[in-house]
Amino acid sequence: MKPLLIIDPGHGGKDPGGGSNRFWKEKDLNLKISLYQYNRYKQLGIPVSLTRQSDVTLTPEVRTRIVRNSGATFCHSNHINAGGGDGAEIIHSIYGGKEMSSKIAAEMKAAGQNIRRVFTRKLPVNSNLDFYFMNRNTGTVTTSIIEYGFADSKKDDIRQLQTQWETYAEAVVKGFCLFTGNDYFLPSVKDEKLQAKSAKILRLPESAGSWRVYPLDRSPVKGNEKGFLRPSKFNGLEYKVLGSPLKHVYTITTRDFGKVNIYAHPETGATFK
Ligand SMILES: [Zn+2]
Repeated sequence: MKPLLIIDPGHGGKDPGGGSNRFWKEKDLNLKISLYQYNRYKQLGIPVSLTRQSDVTLTPEVRTRIVRNSGATFCHSNHINAGGGDGAEIIHSIYGGKEMSSKIAAEMKAAGQNIRRVFTRKLPVNSNLDFYFMNRNTGTVTTSIIEYGFADSKKDDIRQLQTQWETYAEAVVKGFCLFTGNDYFLPSVKDEKLQAKSAKILRLPESAGSWRVYPLDRSPVKGNEKGFLRPSKFNGLEYKVLGSPLKHVYTITTRDFGKVNIYAHPETGATFK
């Protein structure tokens, strides 16, 4: 499937990026933000790709060719700024992308980052061309260059980017979803939904007289048990599976022992439904 979106972690490899300081290299923070967003878009069911997934050098020619050939309609090019300002900036092409960039900016603002400006910049020698190559040379792909903040800010950007980069990365995801009309939900909500959907019921057969359960913080081996369940007394017992910390080990909540782990290899007679 063609991606709707391609994410471009700016710089990489031999090019650390100008938005670096003693706490981070721009190329690394750009990649962290981009991989976070890549995974989130996949969770949200939005077809997405990346220009790079690791610390490799991409020339502007190669980078823009990857974007042009991606089949994507939109691109986030992720960057950290430098030059002594404070706050986020989003740059779109003179030929489009203003609405998408504005939606992204609005969500970053709502997430607590101040917005310096959403703008375009023309090439001085030819006012029909964008100044920045990610706007100019990405063909029909509408690109927002997203500067999340300043690496050399005298205000709060350095602290904000250290502690809130995930929040801002998420804000961009939300802004993009609002722009495209895709469903948007927070990561935790989605996880709960998934868990509810995939929840399994563990059944201990009534043929079993007793079954060991183990505390969550100890390995599930004989001698460590917290107590015994009595499936035969109850015509079998059923529990909702809350998780599986180890292969064939499941976390359940029991009436008598609370939350415990239980070993339920198929050969034990345990079944799932
Ligand atoms: Zn940059």
